[in-house]
Amino acid sequence: MSAATSLREEATELLQELIRVDTVNPPGNETRAASVLRDYLAEHGVEATLVAREPERANIVARLEGGNGPSLAFVCHTDTVLADPAEWQRDPWSGDLVDGEVWGRGALDMKGQVAASAVAFASLWREGFRPAGDLLFAATADEEVGDCFGLEWLVREHPDLVRVDFALNEGGGERVELGGSTYYFCGVAEKMSAGFRVRVRGRSGHASTPGIADNALVKAAPYITRLGSYRPAPWLIPEVERFLEVTLGAVPSAEDALAQAREELGSRAAEIVEPLLALTLSPTMIEASQARNVIPAVCDLTVDCRLLPGQRPDDVEDELRTVLGDGDWELEWIERVGGSRSALDTPLWSALDDFVATVEPGARLVPSCNAGFTDSHYLRDAFGTIAYGFFPMRAMEYELAVRLEHSADERVPVDDLELGVTALRHAALTVL
Ligand SMILES: [Zn+2]
Repeated sequence: MSAATSLREEATELLQELIRVDTVNPPGNETRAASVLRDYLAEHGVEATLVAREPERANIVARLEGGNGPSLAFVCHTDTVLADPAEWQRDPWSGDLVDGEVWGRGALDMKGQVAASAVAFASLWREGFRPAGDLLFAATADEEVGDCFGLEWLVREHPDLVRVDFALNEGGGERVELGGSTYYFCGVAEKMSAGFRVRVRGRSGHASTPGIADNALVKAAPYITRLGSYRPAPWLIPEVERFLEVTLGAVPSAEDALAQAREELGSRAAEIVEPLLALTLSPTMIEASQARNVIPAVCDLTVDCRLLPGQRPDDVEDELRTVLGDGDWELEWIERVGGSRSALDTPLWSALDDFVATVEPGARLVPSCNAGFTDSHYLRDAFGTIAYGFFPMRAMEYELAVRLEHSADERVPVDDLELGVTALRHAALTVL
């Protein structure tokens, strides 16, 4: 059996074991997965540390000590979202291997990467790899809910365990073909989720006599329309600039970017670029009267708002107030999560770019900016870590993977698991 074959099988078997322990969050029970990982690592001579805010919600961290050079972490989460067996063709916790794919909840998000990270780490360890700086493996709890049992908690309570210069996490690695060329995405930034509420005020009254009241629901209608149809002026963040530079060969103006991406690269590229040219606004919820026959004095409109990395609510509030115009309303921010970024030109970027060109000649690495967020922002915020999302997928089409995540029949091709192990090992061997 070749070394490559055994890493492939090692990752497959470990993933099957991880899927077979139910770590649906809530409640999580991630200690089950941490124990599987501790036993696997121990078999290969690696001593790992379990550390937990509550006994059943353990994180696991292992460290291969190096010199004083830069450190790198393989970061991943062991919890999953729920699964309804009635929707699935197979038991979501079977870990079945069928036609070269491992089935089960978490196969893509993200026990596959957990298994690949552990195997990459253990294989380097037993080969006697002596890195220039520390190599870390951190499989953490509670990413899907975020009640502070996982990386957020570790960064706060045990910073010395997870302080690191570079990190590879979920949130990237998708392979796309645009304009006849192949690209792999590397997640370097994320938008900030900054939802807000517009409270519109009127005067209550009996619904049978609308003339005596001032209906807040009706007054809210124009604000919904204004916010929903608002198109802010576009501008190019560095991540989009680089994406256009690599894919188009030159950077167009912010005003021309969308049209040019659509024309030269296709509609898929336009879909990627459009939400990254400006903040987005989507009115999504409305609450007014609790009774059919009572005209509401108050109407609350909730708006999903995603800011570009670098933008803060304070920067855009005046703009939003102008969009709303005069009237009886109050604007209140109700959330601000994510919105971090890592630099583009780093040794880790070069290592991944080089990896992509090696496994697929002609392919290039391009930055992506996620609309959602991962645990990477905890590391970026606390330590200034260069944290990228990268787990390459080639055997499974990106469109299919997106459909299966958090949905029924989630599965991962073994070919992609193996590609992931190779990518992570390459990054460690190059950066360290
Ligand atoms: Zn995930």
